[in-house]
Amino acid sequence: MLTNDRLAAWDRENFLHPSTAAGAHARGEGPQRIVTGGEGVYITDREGKRSLDGFAGLYCVNVGYGRMEVADAIAEQARKLAYYHAYAGHGSEPAIELAQMVLERAPDHMSKVYFGLSGSDANETNIKLIWYANNCAGRPEKKKIISRWRGYHGSGLMTGSLTGLHLFHNAFDLPLSPILHTDAPYYHRRADGTQTEAEFSAQCAASLEALILEQGPETVAAFIGEPILGTGGIVPPPEGYWAAIQAVLDKYDVMLIADEVVTGFGRLGSMFGSEHYGMKPDVITIAKGLTSAYAPLSGSILSERIFEMITRGTDDLGPLGHGWTYSAHPLCAAAGVANLKLIDSLGLVDNARETGAAWQAMLKSAFDGHPIVGEVRGEGLMAAVEFDADPETRTPFDAGEKVGARIAAAALERGLIARAMPQGDILGLAPPLCLTAVEAEEIVGIARAAVDSVAGELGRL
Ligand code: PLP
Repeated sequence: MLTNDRLAAWDRENFLHPSTAAGAHARGEGPQRIVTGGEGVYITDREGKRSLDGFAGLYCVNVGYGRMEVADAIAEQARKLAYYHAYAGHGSEPAIELAQMVLERAPDHMSKVYFGLSGSDANETNIKLIWYANNCAGRPEKKKIISRWRGYHGSGLMTGSLTGLHLFHNAFDLPLSPILHTDAPYYHRRADGTQTEAEFSAQCAASLEALILEQGPETVAAFIGEPILGTGGIVPPPEGYWAAIQAVLDKYDVMLIADEVVTGFGRLGSMFGSEHYGMKPDVITIAKGLTSAYAPLSGSILSERIFEMITRGTDDLGPLGHGWTYSAHPLCAAAGVANLKLIDSLGLVDNARETGAAWQAMLKSAFDGHPIVGEVRGEGLMAAVEFDADPETRTPFDAGEKVGARIAAAALERGLIARAMPQGDILGLAPPLCLTAVEAEEIVGIARAAVDSVAGELGRL
């Protein structure tokens, strides 16, 4: 039996963690936690500490921890057939069943799903397939992809370029050139304090239109956006935003990729966020909620229109030159089938809407008029509390104060995992979709205590 000390030392010595201050971790300075178990919305670590996971892992364990239905489905598939590829028309039973289940849930105009493993590789696939489709349709110059500052779409070379957070560009020579960024729909940080939400949305759409015109519409292939900005700060779209953006995209024949890696399969209280906000995507990216992270699986859901363009291409050029060994991996697909069945049988989309609405109201009232809270916002089971030095004038804290990170640490001490979002002083919350009313209250109570404790340290209570 490995001791805690031995494991902790090996971790510091050998393991280069993602999104971690590598040097500090290796020197034994940064946080370290070895998680060993989970049940419902709670996880347990090797020290025996139990915490309410208010971020569902990385907003992905939507059905909650410890679901034996999903574990058993993976085990059963592993005993029967652990792997076979999906190239050249091959398939496995769960992959075919899952594709059917995904399309049954997707908007009517969607036609096919391509399976990958991560949100990043799915967005990579989306770009490649849109380029391929445009090449095959005789418009090879239509290649540029527009994303938004504060958008998050992955951390590969192309997808890290799509991501509009400087941390993911700095010292990586990103973004690559066919990727452009436009304004974030971040109403709280608008420059003009007198603007209404609708005016701000119109301004975002006008900036997008100006960028398309400056580049030449014939060179712009697609726009990518999360229905609600996630990692960039959990920011719901301001009033009228998606309708205004959609009108610009339609005007210049620019495709819409709805990145629903976080919002797909219920997080906002609708099956898809694009449905929730009336978007008309040509491609939908799915991942996390597809398997609730019981196994890695992602997908690119394609519209009938793109599929027709791809069909013309493969009829002329032969098989699609795109695929991963693990596309549609049977174990992951088995997890996906069991997970989607569980989402239905437990009524988790409805729960995200109903418990989510009550929870959002509780959060808003808990922080109403708080001296360091600038805004509480969210939708369904996804929320953010943003901190300001002066909420009245929306003046942020000095970044050096690390207010968001300190509040997340204070919440953890009290048994709640919340995420200090990577840009700004923002506490992110996105619990599993099986959250009960009692657990919702527990999150709000601990979050309030954590914010008060840091506000007290700052002399602001
Ligand atoms: N797209 C969105 C909206 C995400 O939130 C994420 C990850 O958080 C990704 C893409 C990338 O997914 P992955 O980390 O699985 O590559």
